[in-house]
Amino acid sequence: MDLEFDKNHIWHPYSSLINPPPVYPIARAEGVRIYLEDGRGLIDGMSSWWSTLHGYKVPELNAAMQAQMGKMSHVMFGGLTHEPAIELCKKLVALTPTPLQKVFLADSGSVSVEVAIKMALQYWQSQGKAGKNRLLALRNGYHGDTFGAMATCDPVTGMHHLFASQLTQHLFAPAPRPKFDEPCSDEDIAELQQIIEQNHQKLAAVILEPIVQGAGGMRFYSPEYLRKVRELCDRYDLLLIADEIATGFGRSGKMFACEHAGISPDILTLGKALTGGTMTLAATLCTDRVANGICSGEAGVFMHGPTFMGNPMACAVANASIELLIARDWHTQVGSIQSQMERELAPLKDASGVADVRVLGAIGVVEMKQPVDNRTLQESLIERGVWLRPFGKLVYAMPPYIISNEDLSCLTGAMVETLSAL
Ligand code: PMP
Repeated sequence: MDLEFDKNHIWHPYSSLINPPPVYPIARAEGVRIYLEDGRGLIDGMSSWWSTLHGYKVPELNAAMQAQMGKMSHVMFGGLTHEPAIELCKKLVALTPTPLQKVFLADSGSVSVEVAIKMALQYWQSQGKAGKNRLLALRNGYHGDTFGAMATCDPVTGMHHLFASQLTQHLFAPAPRPKFDEPCSDEDIAELQQIIEQNHQKLAAVILEPIVQGAGGMRFYSPEYLRKVRELCDRYDLLLIADEIATGFGRSGKMFACEHAGISPDILTLGKALTGGTMTLAATLCTDRVANGICSGEAGVFMHGPTFMGNPMACAVANASIELLIARDWHTQVGSIQSQMERELAPLKDASGVADVRVLGAIGVVEMKQPVDNRTLQESLIERGVWLRPFGKLVYAMPPYIISNEDLSCLTGAMVETLSAL
């Protein structure tokens, strides 16, 4: 592989071309392993950023793509439709909370967040309340890299502060304090409540990642907090946008993280694991109320329509992935990953460099007291046959659901060994 060319010409996520970090050449991937060019297999603890639920080279997913390829790889969605999209939208409407009835197929997570924001803004315009055009987001939140999405990320930890002056100025409430298994007191919600009370006339929606704040801090918060946010949205007539791009499809122990709180948002974004990590596809769902509002407004239509909307290959493989998820009893798989990670990461609670160890569903997080040296840590993990991508103080694993007990022990063992030594 021409790694010199890669180094000199190709951007990788959040990378420098002056001082490029090492990139490891991958030749193929199968099951839970990604294989380096030199033949070494690494257990993938990242599920390629929350996406590859069933691991790699999955026969059922490959077959779905091959079958669809034989019919059509793509066809425009403007004025045309097809079975894979209809099938997928039926599945999404059936799986998500009942009030979510309408589906917009987008091409990546960030785009589905743009779509969600546009839906909220267009809805209020249609109601003659164009002044409701700001969002309330949470500190430590993360919603994507495009401009609309960036404006809702935590202004500090959200990685986008360089663009602050170019972004729509939204409002931010403190990150939820109560942890997953803690109650949420009135005081815990007081500041958010006050912001809503004082600003509801200009607020279109609250946007948040339900229960699990991902890239902005890997924090798990109380379902009661989420229920209280839902109540406040109802009381002050704000829409609630739940970004389940990372949490959707079982990762937190429920099919959708909103289920921990028994609530339904008005708008929901899905992505990442939607196609089992094979192709890029995302979806934004909304209620009848939101859709009817938008479509009875001045424009009469929803103003969005990307070229690759509803790509048949992506829809076909998403259908196969959802079928596989259900057939394989994801709930049991995720539950057993959770108990094994809880058990095997527990020794780190006593390590001197570790601030916190937390596990929810198939997500295991070790928060260090100091930021880790990514490069050195990654090298020692690779020596132990494991692929993780730590950032800042966070070293975390969210393996494919099909991981065996032995491979998971290998993964947690590598984390315990390397992090105990820091
Ligand atoms: N929302 C959340 C919660 C995410 O974790 C991400 C991706 N890290 C996004 C949105 C953006 O998705 P994408 O990278 O597919 O644009």
